Amino acid sequence: MHWLETYKVLSAMKERLKWSREELDRYRLWKLRNLVRYAYYNSSFYRSLYDQQNVKPDQIETLADVVRLPIIDKQMLRSLEPLEVVTEPVKQQVQNESDWMTEVTSGSTGVPLRIRRTWRDLHYIKAKIIRAFGQTGFRFYHKQAVLKSSSESLSGKHWFERFGVLRKYWLSVTDPPDFNLRRLQEITPQHVHGYPSGLQAIAQLLEQEGKSFHIPVICSGAEVLEPLVRRQIAEAFRAEIFDLYGVREVGNVAWECKAHDGLHINDDALIVELLGAGDQPVAVGEEGEVVVTYLDATDYPFIRYRLGDRAVQMAGTCKCGVQFNRLNSITGRTDARILLPSGKWISGMVFQELRTAPWVSVYRLIQEDLKSVKLQVVPKKSLNPNELEALVTRAQELVNNELRIIPEVLSRLEYDASGKLRSVICRIDEPQDQSTAPSKSEDD
Ligand SMILES: [Zn+2]
Repeated sequence: MHWLETYKVLSAMKERLKWSREELDRYRLWKLRNLVRYAYYNSSFYRSLYDQQNVKPDQIETLADVVRLPIIDKQMLRSLEPLEVVTEPVKQQVQNESDWMTEVTSGSTGVPLRIRRTWRDLHYIKAKIIRAFGQTGFRFYHKQAVLKSSSESLSGKHWFERFGVLRKYWLSVTDPPDFNLRRLQEITPQHVHGYPSGLQAIAQLLEQEGKSFHIPVICSGAEVLEPLVRRQIAEAFRAEIFDLYGVREVGNVAWECKAHDGLHINDDALIVELLGAGDQPVAVGEEGEVVVTYLDATDYPFIRYRLGDRAVQMAGTCKCGVQFNRLNSITGRTDARILLPSGKWISGMVFQELRTAPWVSVYRLIQEDLKSVKLQVVPKKSLNPNELEALVTRAQELVNNELRIIPEVLSRLEYDASGKLRSVICRIDEPQDQSTAPSKSEDD
C-alpha cells in the first residue's frame, strides 16, 4: 500500500504550505539537527567525512550553522559503494538485494552516479512533486501526459488508473514531433509535464501548420526554460505554463505557483544554499551555485550536496501567501556558460536571443577551447547564407568578439544521454561532473 504512505506524507506537506516563516524555520532546524545526527551515527560515509573535518552534529545550533558541514558532490559519491552512504537501520531491514531501488543519474558527461533508494525515501519524493503539481492546478482525476526521455519512463500502470485516478501517459522526446502531437491529440490531457525542448518542437510544428492544440496546464522541467521558448509553448498550446526545477537525486527542488513570480523552494523539505566564490553564500538577488540538504531523506542522505546548477534567490514574499522562499531564475548548469579568454564567464541565457532569428529551429553552442565556439544550428527551411552570416556576427558580438564563432548547419541536433537538449555547453576544464538529471519516474 505504497500509495497510502505517499498520501499521508502529502497531506502533511500540504499543511505546511500554510505555515508562517517562524514555524517553517523552527521545523527546518529540528529536521536539520536530526538529519545530521542520524547521518553521523548511521552512515559510514558521513561519519568518516565529519570526523576528518572535525565536525560534530552538536555544532549545528542554528540554520546558519549548516555552513560548518563539508560540501559533497557527485564525484565524491560516485567513488563510493552506494551502501557506504546508506544508513545502518535500513541496511539491516533490507533482506534481499531486489528490495533496493537503484536510481542512476544519467549525466551528460562522465560516469553516472548510482543511488540506493528505498520506498521510504521515495514516498517523500513522490509527495513533493504531487504537491507541486497541485499548485499548478493538477487534480487527481486529470489525465497527465509526460514528455521526457524514453529511458525515464515507467512501463505498466497503477491499478487506480483504471478508475480514472492519476492517469499518466508517457511520450518520448526522441519520437518525432508529429508523432507526439498525434498522441497528444488522442490523449487530450489536461496537464502535461515535459522537457521544454520537446514541447517547443511540437509548438513549432503547430506554428508551421498554422494550427493550435489546447492543453490547459503545461509544466516544464529538466532544462532551463528560456522566456522565448516559454512564450512559444504558451501560444501554441494556449496553456498556462509552470516551471519546475528538479533533479534526480532529490526530486523536485522548486515550483512555480499561480502568481507566476519565481519558483517556491520546498523549504520544508530542503535547505537550498546559493554559493559564490570560495563557497561563501551570495546575497539575495545574486547568482550562486546550488547546494542542497535534503531534510526528508534519511536512508540515503544528501547533506550539502552540490547540484551543479546556478540560480538566483528572490527577495520578499509571494502574493500567493505561501511563505516558502523563491528562486527568481535557474540560470543553468555550471557548465552552461561560455568562458572568454579574459576569464569572464557569459551566462548561457545571453544567447537565447539567437532564437529570435525567424529561420532558426534550434541551436547549440559548444566551447572546447579558449579560441572558438562551435555554433550548431538547425534551420526551419532552406538556408539563406546572408541570414547565417548575420547570426554568426550576432553570436560573435555576444562573446565580445573575443572568440571565433564557427557555424555548423545540421538537419537535427543529437540529444544527450538523458534525452535533453542543452543549448550551451562549455567543455573547458571539465569542472567536476556536475551533471544532474531529472528525477526518475514521475518524480522530478
Ligand atoms: Zn507563490
